[in-house]
Amino acid sequence: MISAVTHVPPRLAPGFWVSDSPPGGPRTPLQGSRRADVVVVGGGFTGLWTAYHLLRLEPTAKVVVLERERVGFGASGRNGSWCVPELNAGPALLARHFGAARAAELHGAMRATVDEIGLFCSREGIEGYEKAGVLLVARGRGQLPALEATQLEWEQGGVSSPYQRIGADEAERKLAVHGLEGALYSPEGASVHPGKLLTGLAAAVERMGGEIYEGSGVTSLQAGTPATARTGLGEVTADLVVLGLEAYLTQLPGWHRAILPVYSLIELTEPLSETQLASVNWRRRICVSSMRLTVDYLALTPDRRILIGGRGAPYGYGSALSEDRERHPATHEGLRAMFREWFPDLAEVRFTHSWGGVLGMPRDWMPQVRLDRSRGLGIAYGYTGHGVATTHLLGRTLAELIAGRESERTQLPLVGHRSPPWEPEPLRWMAVRYVQRQLAGLDSRVARGGRPPSGRTVAERLAAH
Ligand SMILES: Cc1cc2nc3c(=O)[nH]c(=O)nc-3n(C[C@H](O)[C@H](O)[C@H](O)COP(=O)(O)OP(=O)(O)OC[C@H]3O[C@@H](n4cnc5c(N)ncnc54)[C@H](O)[C@@H]3O)c2cc1C
Repeated sequence: MISAVTHVPPRLAPGFWVSDSPPGGPRTPLQGSRRADVVVVGGGFTGLWTAYHLLRLEPTAKVVVLERERVGFGASGRNGSWCVPELNAGPALLARHFGAARAAELHGAMRATVDEIGLFCSREGIEGYEKAGVLLVARGRGQLPALEATQLEWEQGGVSSPYQRIGADEAERKLAVHGLEGALYSPEGASVHPGKLLTGLAAAVERMGGEIYEGSGVTSLQAGTPATARTGLGEVTADLVVLGLEAYLTQLPGWHRAILPVYSLIELTEPLSETQLASVNWRRRICVSSMRLTVDYLALTPDRRILIGGRGAPYGYGSALSEDRERHPATHEGLRAMFREWFPDLAEVRFTHSWGGVLGMPRDWMPQVRLDRSRGLGIAYGYTGHGVATTHLLGRTLAELIAGRESERTQLPLVGHRSPPWEPEPLRWMAVRYVQRQLAGLDSRVARGGRPPSGRTVAERLAAH
């Protein structure tokens, strides 16, 4: 018998977005036994979009969401706010994998998804969604070939590129970045407030009858029909269990090599005045990135702070996950230095928040969604750094599969896809660290004015997507 359970307070807020949102809780932990139609493990975008769409399709379904910490504790509450219709797998790779026609359907579904998230926000009164597009800039002449390579990728994928090549002057009118040589601009991306989106989404799930329990980490899972998910204090028996765990999937027995955890880190400035933002022409909340191989991303928050993020933190042997890994002083310092290089006129601006989070990278870069009724298991994962929009698409698709509704989404090539597992250690650590170091070295060489990357080095080929 379970007695005298007290609420387990969630750990520290995972970053700015969650602390800047109405709390939407605290929700109590699960206690005792429950029977449900579907139990969802993980209270991030995947778990919540699946629950939301399932309740829309089946309003009387009993859906329970179990979250170990608090809603949005994982990558969903920590990200760079880009809500863009792109996957980590580029258009040429998608076309090679699935054929040009099916890849084109996937691009169409992603484009629709960005707008559907916008509609959801306006229906639910959720602030922070702004569709101002994406700007990919070449900072220095050494990054110019990467702009051409990006356009070529779309051509090879047989899909018309959403990006338009623009010169330095036109790019400067969109954002005055120091060292700008040219850019690609797409109107198709949006920026969200991830914390407010999560709070509004969780509220919608609860309003529709879904139950969300926080401080309720699943400690054992028994697949089957029915399936059972046990936490320290209770258990849910259900016809189906849905896993929305992304990088945390590596902690489940049997799933260790399904995905590679990669830490991405963020620095956030104080709110900027309109004069400061006007000095760099940053008016609308456009998403911005350079063509570095090691990935950087910038965004403007609704309260006018600049967010700059990047992926410099080293991979941990054995796919280690820990709170310590959410900080990497050299990467955080590098991001602050990069901000001052991008915007020398804003060098005096203070940084008020810094955090990190873990995303999941599948071995072939493909996100995937599967339903296995015989095991009582549904799953969606593998977004790498492109989950804000993709979780909506795959969560909705998973809900349709569960409800037995066919749609254009249930025919998409990511349905039923299964990436190969990552290599066992120590091979995995050696290869990933090699690629991380080589790409950082190539970026430094370009920044010093050296030759642009050829695309043919071992590291670039291993990382190619
Ligand atoms: C720093 C950073 C920047 C990013 N920037 C962008 C961006 O700008 N645009 C973009 O599209 N994508 C971005 N991403 C990726 C995107 O945020 C993720 O792909 C997406 O949020 C994944 O959502 P999810 O729900 O699948 O996983 P998560 O949000 O990680 O949710 C998993 C949840 O499961 C919970 N959990 C773990 N173990 C258990 C357990 N045993 N029992 C119960 N619950 C458990 C965790 O606490 C967590 O809340 C970024 C990621 C990071 C880390």
